[in-house]
Amino acid sequence: MVQSDRHNVLHSSVLVLNRSYVALRVVSVRRAIVMLFRDAAEVIQLENGGYANYDFASWCEWSAFRDEAGNGELSGNGDGSGQAPDWLRTVRHRVLAPRVIRLLHFDQLPRLSVRLNRKSLFARDENRCQYCGREFSVSQLSFDHVTPRSRGGRTIWENVVTCCLACNSKKGDRTPREAGMDLWQRPRRPKCDPVLRLKLGNPRYQLWQPFLAANRGGIEIG
Ligand SMILES: [Zn+2]
Repeated sequence: MVQSDRHNVLHSSVLVLNRSYVALRVVSVRRAIVMLFRDAAEVIQLENGGYANYDFASWCEWSAFRDEAGNGELSGNGDGSGQAPDWLRTVRHRVLAPRVIRLLHFDQLPRLSVRLNRKSLFARDENRCQYCGREFSVSQLSFDHVTPRSRGGRTIWENVVTCCLACNSKKGDRTPREAGMDLWQRPRRPKCDPVLRLKLGNPRYQLWQPFLAANRGGIEIG
């Protein structure tokens, strides 16, 4: 349906709010556009210090206006970042990539705790093996149960750590003490979603901040 001006725009992220403006989850721009196109959501953006709501048709119109006006005084995606805007190209014209959308029909509630999965675990440990302390790319990482499952170790934040493949096979089915391998740091349950924390460091997602202040733990990263 749409192509992006820059390769990564369709894979950039959009924050989804419920009808009551509570942050629920993060989806790709591609997914957000589908939701807008089906009138399941509207775009929220920053305008003159307040928030403005756009359905898909008016968002396309606004984008066309922005496109004609050029970047001059109207910088960014309406996300307060002041960065160059991200554009999606449709058949007829370009559409600004939204940063925040709001669901129109469902009043889902956010999750109350940070979900544990490979992505969030690696983000918590900043891609660092918790035994040798070195950083790796995600494809070279695995995770380890500090107290092995065979000894009753559970799959919880406090008992799993990011681990490189070499350390994983070296440790095997032993405790750190038995293997003579010290932990880099004690594993903890994160207070806010570690994947989200990384994204908030990017000025592109500045518009997310006020919506996340109340509930950072419960966001699902799609
Ligand atoms: Zn290692």
